[in-house]
Amino acid sequence: MHHLRFRQVHLDFHTSPAIPGIGLAFDKDEWQNTLKAGHVNSITLFAKCHHGWHYHFTEKGRLHPKLGFDLLRAQFDACKEIDVNVPIYISAGLDCMILDEHPEWQCVFVDPNTLNTSVASPLKPGFHRVCFNSPYTDYLCEQIKETVHLFPNCDGIFLDIISQPECCCPHCLKVMRENGLNPNIQKDRQRCSELALERYYQMTTAAATFENPDMPVFHNSGHVTPGRRSQLKNYFTHLELESLPTGGWGYDHFPLSAKYVKTLDLDFLGMTGKFHTTWGEFGGYKHPNALRYECAAMMAFGAKCSVGDQLHPSGKLDESTYDLIGQAYAEVEQKEPWCDNVDNVAEIGLLTAAAINASSSRDIPGDIGAGRILLEGHFLFDVIDLDADFKKYKLLILPDDIHIDNKLKKRLDTYLGRGGHLLLSGRSGLDDDGKFLFDVGAECKGLSPFRPDYVRLDESIRPDSVKSPMVMYLPGYRIKVKDGKSLGDVHDTYFNRTDYQHFCSHQHTPYRLEASGFAAGVMKGGIMYLAHPVFSIYRGWGCVPVAEYLRKAVRLILGESSIETNMPSTARLNLMNQPENKRYVLHLLYANTVARGGNINVNGVTSRGMIEVIEDLNPLVDVQVAVKTPKEVKSITLEPQGTPLPFEKDEQGRVVIKIDRFTCHQMVVMNY
Ligand SMILES: [Zn+2]
Repeated sequence: MHHLRFRQVHLDFHTSPAIPGIGLAFDKDEWQNTLKAGHVNSITLFAKCHHGWHYHFTEKGRLHPKLGFDLLRAQFDACKEIDVNVPIYISAGLDCMILDEHPEWQCVFVDPNTLNTSVASPLKPGFHRVCFNSPYTDYLCEQIKETVHLFPNCDGIFLDIISQPECCCPHCLKVMRENGLNPNIQKDRQRCSELALERYYQMTTAAATFENPDMPVFHNSGHVTPGRRSQLKNYFTHLELESLPTGGWGYDHFPLSAKYVKTLDLDFLGMTGKFHTTWGEFGGYKHPNALRYECAAMMAFGAKCSVGDQLHPSGKLDESTYDLIGQAYAEVEQKEPWCDNVDNVAEIGLLTAAAINASSSRDIPGDIGAGRILLEGHFLFDVIDLDADFKKYKLLILPDDIHIDNKLKKRLDTYLGRGGHLLLSGRSGLDDDGKFLFDVGAECKGLSPFRPDYVRLDESIRPDSVKSPMVMYLPGYRIKVKDGKSLGDVHDTYFNRTDYQHFCSHQHTPYRLEASGFAAGVMKGGIMYLAHPVFSIYRGWGCVPVAEYLRKAVRLILGESSIETNMPSTARLNLMNQPENKRYVLHLLYANTVARGGNINVNGVTSRGMIEVIEDLNPLVDVQVAVKTPKEVKSITLEPQGTPLPFEKDEQGRVVIKIDRFTCHQMVVMNY
């Protein structure tokens, strides 16, 4: 396994050929001192950027026209002299320069509805996509080979923008003809994209490793798609989870992605940015507290750290950026001993629709909603794919829209037979005819015609503040309870809001006072089924009582829980095992993210809308956690302070930890 360092910078350097004096302000001593001040011990530097230019002397590409020396060599040697690792970046999917010479290598996009095709306008600012089915991939591989030959002691090759849109360029049309695919059919075009990607992966990975089979390689597409283990195994040595919380990914993308990646046998980085928003934002900064939190979160979720920056065209590192990074990385450096070679401790497996469908979408509502419920409810969980070992988990959650085929059905039956618990919702657990695949103690009568409808929940799962019928914004299934335990009543509306004679007030029609006779959910033995796509509802609407309902539902079907805490829902908690050191590391993490900014358009300048930011790090006080660990805990210290912490045990044999206060991040180290 390729072992990563903890404190990396991803130094973007996409630099216009219209800017003069590239690299002229590079100064070796200043460069080294700035990296040292930032506590950086690995930095990804550029061989070739999205504009298509090289930053080292090359025979296989073109040196940037305003660069007069081998900048990468100078940067690289300066880093190696102070023991800073250097992975090298090569833009793969975007290359403007070469498309001027070979416009026939450009992606030709297809509108799936009209079959109209288009290419990116050559007149507008922005990067252009190359097609991996075109000879461009050969051109790229020559450059990769040249780079690893010139820099044999580099610490990896980072290839960027790895995806292939549906394309109808001449090369793709040829591939489709040769493979019996019909370019008029979307599924066939998608298959052609898969073939292009497979070709890309094989050729570029071979190129990166042609002199040194151990050369680390990473292919970036902004998100790691669950369920593609063979691709990861064949072509990746490690992972870098690009996830800039303020750049469109949000603060929940990284933890959920990390929860999946941690189940794989690959070391990985979390990658945020120093920007207020996202890449390419010169002069944009987040608050130092935000970066401290983001790096702490990476460690709490079992990742190493990477911070994205963009180098000024002059080659001079930005002082304020490395002050910012230095504050976060000084803390990371202190915490490293407790964060390396760790395994996530989990009692719940969240089987995601993304993993089942190998969907590259990073926002599948049911998956995200379920993930948020588990994060906010402080459950110990993994996000899993079909290759996961189910028997590791006390509870499996299949949120909202999981198609269960025969093979999965058999595995789930075995899992249930061994005493496992199962939480199903919405379409999950139903066959193609809408009948239950499992004995949940109820019958399914199809999808409700009422949009929305309401649930009056059973006391066992009802939010503390709501006894009345609560609106469910998405339609649920009609279930009649037979020998299971009903989890509440559904109340229909008088009618759907459909026309001028059928509407009531500002939004939806009220509920009927009498229950419909259908249940909101049912539980029998180890199985709970909730009739609505509840996790998608939470993802879409963020209603707090819905969150309370779902956290209670998870607790009910989980049974006795290994963990309980009084921390607020905005706090995060994670339990790691560090077997080599015979200790568990409980991570407590807290920041209050707030939404700032909004949509404005002034003199033709449009803002980016609301952004979730962190400014303040407020302490949490009187924190309590009760945790049951697989191995008996002998002593506890707070780290990195090294303070011993007395503890007691509750009736369930759980270790009870009390902490007066912590700010941002606290590691509770439990030795066994
Ligand atoms: Zn193509």
